[in-house]
Amino acid sequence: MAIATVNPATGKTEKSFEPYDDAHLDKALALATEAFVDFAGASFKERARLMVGAAELLEGENPDIARIMATEMGKTFAAAKGEVSKCANALRWFADHAEAMLADEVVATSASDSRAIFRPLGPVLAVMPWNFPMWQVIRFAAPALMLGNTGLLKHASNVPQTALLLEDLFRRAGYPEGVFQTLLVESSRVDSLIADERIKAVTLTGSDGAGRSVAAAAGRALKKTVLELGGSDPYIVLASADLARASDVAVQARLQNNGQSCIAAKRFIVHSDVYDEFCDSFVKKMASLTTGDPMDPATDLGPLATESGRDDVASQVSDAREHGASVLCGGSKVDGPGFYYEPTVLADVTPQMRVYSEEVFGPVAMLFKAGSTEDAMRIANDSPFGLGASVWTSDPAEREQLTEGLQTGMIFFNAMVASTPELPFGGLKQSGYGRELGDLGLKEFCAVKTIWVT
Ligand code: NAP
Repeated sequence: MAIATVNPATGKTEKSFEPYDDAHLDKALALATEAFVDFAGASFKERARLMVGAAELLEGENPDIARIMATEMGKTFAAAKGEVSKCANALRWFADHAEAMLADEVVATSASDSRAIFRPLGPVLAVMPWNFPMWQVIRFAAPALMLGNTGLLKHASNVPQTALLLEDLFRRAGYPEGVFQTLLVESSRVDSLIADERIKAVTLTGSDGAGRSVAAAAGRALKKTVLELGGSDPYIVLASADLARASDVAVQARLQNNGQSCIAAKRFIVHSDVYDEFCDSFVKKMASLTTGDPMDPATDLGPLATESGRDDVASQVSDAREHGASVLCGGSKVDGPGFYYEPTVLADVTPQMRVYSEEVFGPVAMLFKAGSTEDAMRIANDSPFGLGASVWTSDPAEREQLTEGLQTGMIFFNAMVASTPELPFGGLKQSGYGRELGDLGLKEFCAVKTIWVT
């Protein structure tokens, strides 16, 4: 895959980049290793000062940065601005809280002093996706840099300008040279980077295919990994739900980021008592959305990020149709330039269809009718993925039942699934392992040392 900005709203290539050669990469790895020596020893106060500086830059330059993101991957300008603000908030949050979260854990034993201590590990490689081109990187970088690690970013090949902008951001915030670097390389170079002894750990956010490949390379090198992979999140609407609210949020939960979010709701599982009413309202709302230029404030839904991504969605919908799915709205590519796809709702989906078990990374919702709470949970769990789940109910007993029974890493009641710096984020099953954000995310790439003093 060439490293280039192809504007998804027009299909035109706006900027291309040469991948870094071996000498360039070698220099970057040497710099990251060298920078780690001093940065690991810097005080939390100093690291927090730098991080707040990066947040201030983001806040001051928000619209310019957001415009680049919208041009590279097609998210609406409004969503891009929201993403930049969210990144600034997360930088501030980790600057404020990392020191306390990394405090020694003193444990009472027969020793005079026994504790676990958390220290930085070294240069960490982050292989990141294009869909939240800044947020995905910040949720790796903020904890990593507060801990004292150095970061090497291999970003998705279609967002090179955002990737370079991130390196520049940390440099301008005053981070020492080598603490955060972007490596413009294709995915074929990732295995050899993981094998390099100077890289101490790797985190990947992306598809399950990329996850298998990175986990295999890291396994050969015996290096720690965190994998944040795909999802086919259920959105469960039970009979006691606030239906008006559930159907409003459902549209946003499916179409956020033009339908390209790992935690977008993809399978809408609705109790039979309220199925017809929910369907009616949801399909009407989906069909009434405005698809168009991401820079136009009137646009609800922008293009998909790449032509191949749109082709994948189109082929999944065709397969569902051929196997008997009903298309309640949408179901086609939008004619004209750019990689647009109509907001689509499918019903009568069966396990024979690809969409039943694959992730659909675009504006396509699937509706399922459940005969009972148990049936809703059975359908929700019948997926290779286990990232998030959104559940709509006002019954505390049902909430308890779903909390225990759902096989997902995150469960949001009466809200769509979301990420926030305070709480751990991650999945079960083929949605990956390890956590980002929160206390658990901060500690993923620590050198944990157990200390015992007799
Ligand atoms: P992708 O194709 O897996 O790419 C993600 C990153 O991995 C890119 O930097 C890509 O580089 C690299 N990559 C691809 N194949 C690789 C391989 N075999 N070895 C090493 N690196 C490889 O995913 P995407 O299409 O960009 O992103 C969408 C996916 O990310 C979806 O499945 C989505 O659900 C998932 N995602 C998960 C989360 C989460 O937190 N769980 C969050 C956001 C997105 P190139 O661009 O150079 O190919």
